[in-house]
Order: sequence, then structure tokens, then C-alpha cells
Amino acid sequence: MEYEAVIGVEVHAQIYTRSKMYCACPVLEDNGGLAPNSAVCPVCLALPGALPVVNRRAVEMGIRSALALNCEIATVNRFARKSYFYPDLPKGYQISQHALPLARDGYLDIETPQGPRRIHIRQVHLEEDAAKLLKTTGAPTRIDFNRAGVPLLEIVSAADMHTPAELQAYAKTLYRTLVNLRINGGNLESGALRFEANISVRPRGARNLNPRSEIKNLNSFRALVRSAEYEIQRQIALYRQGRSVEQQTLGWDEKQARTYPQRSKEQADDYRYFPEPDIPPLHITKTWIAEIRAQLPELPLAQKNRLVKDYAIRPYDAALLTESSANADYFERAAKLGQTHALSAQEIANWISGELFRLCNTTDIQLHECAVTPEKLVALLTHYQKGYLSSTAVKTVLAEIFTKGGSPDATIERLGLIQVSDDKALIDWIKQVIEQNPQQTQLYQNSKTGLLGWFVGQVMQISGGKANPAKTRTWLQKFLEQKVGGQKPPLNDNPTR
Ligand code: ZN
Ligand code: MN
Repeated sequence: MEYEAVIGVEVHAQIYTRSKMYCACPVLEDNGGLAPNSAVCPVCLALPGALPVVNRRAVEMGIRSALALNCEIATVNRFARKSYFYPDLPKGYQISQHALPLARDGYLDIETPQGPRRIHIRQVHLEEDAAKLLKTTGAPTRIDFNRAGVPLLEIVSAADMHTPAELQAYAKTLYRTLVNLRINGGNLESGALRFEANISVRPRGARNLNPRSEIKNLNSFRALVRSAEYEIQRQIALYRQGRSVEQQTLGWDEKQARTYPQRSKEQADDYRYFPEPDIPPLHITKTWIAEIRAQLPELPLAQKNRLVKDYAIRPYDAALLTESSANADYFERAAKLGQTHALSAQEIANWISGELFRLCNTTDIQLHECAVTPEKLVALLTHYQKGYLSSTAVKTVLAEIFTKGGSPDATIERLGLIQVSDDKALIDWIKQVIEQNPQQTQLYQNSKTGLLGWFVGQVMQISGGKANPAKTRTWLQKFLEQKVGGQKPPLNDNPTR
């Protein structure tokens, strides 16, 4: 029998407002550097008599996200207590939303290997993060309450996905959307976004839903996808053996690459939801929603399609560039400047997604904050296009400006990188390379013409990237092909003299 998976995801995204969800304590990214338990107050420590107040900015960010996800915003919101007992939860309940959440019934369009798909969003609501348990082996567990009360946005998809590839596309698109909306910085390692997948399988074509398992606390796309793959296979194997799947909560063991049971059967009833008596119903006006809607930035998929259309760049590059709106802005500024210098946008995109992204990744510096501004990139590529610089020299100058700053012209001058097209200098380098590599020369002459590129590379190397590659190629061919049949090339016979 053929089986199909039915997959839904819940995403918890921290909202980086200045203060927490229900009190005035500061919200810090994990590298904020504050000592444990220094961003706390009676409200987020749940001292008796402390009263919560809803953070207006967090509600605004929630509406912003819900609108981007095409949801219906509720004009009347209610907060609710979700009770459960755990040491990281000082009140013994989380203030969340239940009966009247912020938003419902939206969708997110994604692109999958099988084409575009629309994934429905069931619900978007606001809640608060829990404290962080600091576990040390051999010592008592300690608790840092700095994270307790940090605003969280929970986004619940419908069980609309059927393959791990769709799950991955949904998670990545949602991630890019939230980062573009500046909900948070997108640092998955520090837990800015957390995924929970719920998974069941059924015979292909069946309509009913079988019991599902929920995989908790997935902090990377890799863990999300691998755990789903594992869980789908595990459930199929159980059905094939004639056994049943139990509804349960699972953890994911990254090392052993398998899911494991955490607790079984938790029903909504166990949370004993009831309206939070300390927070009155929250009314959201249509005017406020309209204001927020008017300020929505362009979303990644729309931006990607526009870059392809407006600048004729490859969809692949457009997707890379729109992974962050700051990168897309950088590209657009460079592409617009490039137009006045007849530089192709694809050429600019190639240098950004190749060399500049490489430099950014190795240094952890963001593209829009790096010393190579769009103006400098375009100035440099204009020299390249005119043939004053080789591509190797462009790389050198990019790396130099990236690490030390400075202008392209001054850097080219200082490093002596103006491309050499002078025949005499080129021929000197070519002779050197041929002399130093008799074996390769022999191979080439035995009609291994594929070696030409290798020879060009050698000349580029000894010239420090200054040799004009096109001219080098032409001269190399002449020199290498002068004597075929095992004799030494006439190194002293310089054709220009
Ligand atoms: Zn507080
Ligand atoms: Mn939640």
C-alpha cells in the first residue's frame, strides 16, 4: 500500500520589541550581554499582586505579520491563561490567546520542486516566552528569567503539506517573510524562531486523519526536515506491521537522527484555558489595521519576481538576494548605478552572490554594513568591464576594500593591479610558465588541449592576476602550438620581435 504524509507546522517567533510582552523589562537578543536575571521585574517573575499590561508595539508587529500572511485580523482580541507546570514558567501559566486570537484564515504561497503551492494559515496569535533553564551536569539546574515574558508570535499552519520538501519550502519562506518584516533577526541558533511539526500518515487517497505525533523544539531547517523524514518512515513502518500510531509528543535526537517520546496524549483540556482576568479585551480598530497595512514592505516572493522582471537576472540569483531585504536593497542600488555605466545587472548579481557573500560568510559581516558599498562595487566592475582589471584582480581588490576600506582606484593603484595587456610582459610570463612546466607542455602538445585553461591560470598566478586573460590565451596557444611532436618549444623565438 502507498502512504502519504499529512504535515502541519507551528512556528514560535520571538518579537524583538524594546520591552517584554506584559512588562517594561528590556528584550535582549541572546548576545545582548546582560547578566542572567538582570532583565526582570515583579510582573515577569510573577510576584503576587503584579499586573500585566499588553505591549502595543508587539501587537502592531503581530498584525503586521498576520497581514503579510493574508489573515483576517480580529477586531476583538482576548488573552487567556494556558496552565501548565514547569520550572521555566514562573506564573504556572502562560498568557496566550485562545478563544479570540489575533488573526485567522490566511495563507502563504511557496515554491516547491513540484511548482507553486498555497499553504493555509489557521491562526496567528500573541503570547510570551518562558524562562531559560541552564542545565549543568553534576550541578543543580539554574534558571535565567531574562527570557521570561519576551513577546512571541505563534503561527499555526493547516495540515496542508505532504512531503518534507514542501515542509522545508514553507519553513524557509515563512522565515524570510518574518525576517523581512523585522519581527526578529532570524538567528535560529539562539532560538529566535522555533518549529514544531505535526505529522501523520494515511493510505494515499484516504480522507480521514490518523493519530499524529508532534515533534517539539526544532531549531534548524535541517532538524525540521530530517525529523519529519524519520517520523514519516517510522509511522509507515508501524502501519505496515499492522500496528497503530499513538498520538504523542516527540523530541528529536540530532546525534542519533531519531525521534523519541517525551510525553503522551496532551489534550487542549489539560491546559485549562480561561480568559485572563487581568487583561481586558483588546480592541483593534480598522484604522490601525489600515495604517499598518499601508506600511507593509514588499515580501520576499513578490520581491524575487520583481527583480527577475526588472533586472533580467536569473531566478536563482533573485532568490538568493531576496533572502534578506537588506541584501536585495544593496543589489538594487548597485544595479541602478550600474545602468548608467552599461553594467549588466546579472554581472553585479554574480559578484554579490559569489565573492561578496563569501567574504561576508567568512567574517560574519552583513553585506549592507561592509566597506564595499554599492558605489564602490560598481566603480570596480566598470574597470573590469573595460578590460583594465582581470577577474582575479577584482577579487583581490574586493577582499582588500572589504577588510581595510578605501576606494577602488586607490586600492588598484596601491596594489599595482592595472591589467597588463602589453605583449612583451605577457610573453615573458608565458615563457616562464612553459619553462617551469615541461610535463604539462608535453601533454598539451600530445593534443590534450583541455590544458589551455590550466596554463592561463598559471600565467594569472605568476602575474599576480594582472595578465589580460584574453591576450594571454591567444599568445599561449601560439607558443604551445609552435612545435608539436615532442620537441622543445622555441623559447627564444619571440614572435613579436
Ligand atoms: Zn519584567
Ligand atoms: Mn505557543
